[in-house]
Amino acid sequence: MNKRVLPLAGFEKKIAAFREKPAPGLIIGGYMVDEITKNLPKDRFYDVICESIKCLPDAVQLLTPCSVGNGWLRILKIGRFAMTFFDKETGEGIRAYLDTEKLKKYPPINEWFFKLTPKREQDSEKLMASIRSAGGAIISLQKVKVDTDITKKKKDHKVAVCAKCHEAYPATEDGNLCKVCNGKISYYDFSGE
Ligand SMILES: [Zn+2]
Repeated sequence: MNKRVLPLAGFEKKIAAFREKPAPGLIIGGYMVDEITKNLPKDRFYDVICESIKCLPDAVQLLTPCSVGNGWLRILKIGRFAMTFFDKETGEGIRAYLDTEKLKKYPPINEWFFKLTPKREQDSEKLMASIRSAGGAIISLQKVKVDTDITKKKKDHKVAVCAKCHEAYPATEDGNLCKVCNGKISYYDFSGE
């Protein structure tokens, strides 16, 4: 990712076009992208890691050229509201996280984030106003060095045909069966043709 980052102005509009309802997590994710990119040299390419599957990957994909599909965005299911932009050659980068101490100054955001109020009792206008007034003030940054092993692509993996289902799969497993047919992953039952 480099200069092609979209200017923050108008990112709410872009998000509104993507989601019909106000999306607090996405907007905060947008501020995270903004805080990080303001602090990175502009002439380099960066990869991104999101620590949660919720909201943050969508914010990165809407506001930068990095996507899960092109491999410049990875998701680690840690469940923390945080993301890291890093140089994939050196591993050097910046991590942004939602700072729970700073969040205390913004009760509507704090209540929403910690689910202290039932959803139907939430005042979403008040919440969005609080998010806009907070901007990057609820986010903290850290300099980090990412373990670049995580970004090394699996090169030249062979593709095999599973002996049982006859679908193609990466031939990195032992044996001649895909992960479903060898029982390692199960997520569906057949329910008819
Ligand atoms: Zn199979």
